[in-house]
Amino acid sequence: MTTRHRAAAALFIFSIQLHALAFAQAKRSQPLAATDAELARSRTEVLEKTKETRAGAEKLLALHEAELKRITEEYERRRELFYQGLISRTEVVQAEHAVAQTMMRIQDDKRFLAETATALTEFTMRDELLRLPGLALGGYSESGTLLRFNGAAGFTLAEVSKIEKHFTQTFGRSLPISALGQTSTHDRMRFDHRNAIDVALHPESAEGRSVLNYLRQAGIPFIAFRGAVAGAATGAHIHIGKPSPRL
Ligand SMILES: [Zn+2]
Repeated sequence: MTTRHRAAAALFIFSIQLHALAFAQAKRSQPLAATDAELARSRTEVLEKTKETRAGAEKLLALHEAELKRITEEYERRRELFYQGLISRTEVVQAEHAVAQTMMRIQDDKRFLAETATALTEFTMRDELLRLPGLALGGYSESGTLLRFNGAAGFTLAEVSKIEKHFTQTFGRSLPISALGQTSTHDRMRFDHRNAIDVALHPESAEGRSVLNYLRQAGIPFIAFRGAVAGAATGAHIHIGKPSPRL
């Protein structure tokens, strides 16, 4: 085993441990009943912890990107040696496999970071949302940061396929769902997202506007977040479903 292999193996084990830790934390955290005062006190703590988790995930992504660069070079080196008849095809295939695996890990890292950014935005905006006057059934309102629609038909996860179908037929690609129902990030934040989905579209883009029009016609409630919220990195997205109630 070369030094490079040992380093790659150590990095791989480290990333498994991190994923296992996140999973264990997600399993441990159960919804808790708490008073408003306790919630207010723990709110800062939850935000801090989530930002720490995000920082950890960003580091992991950087490690995986560095790993990808290394093993891509190794793959190219082996391919060259194979063409020169110096090594077997199996050694090239092994390197190719390692490249594909790391690319998948990077995709997972990016998906997790997008999920965290969205959850942070909703968590940060929740108090502002709760302060807003309630909308009548079918009511619609716009503010500088939010578009809200209290669709009378309601929403359950069973309706996701209808929205996906509309989007795919219109734009020829799949609906970019960044959170489908409750995720481990929501669990860790003690945030009820069971009956909602998040779509990574800016509400003012052509695609975002089309989805919002479809939801209004179908009577499906949504909250569209227009832009970045202080302290929450990226934030624009569409939350489909009722606002998350407090746990
Ligand atoms: Zn949401």
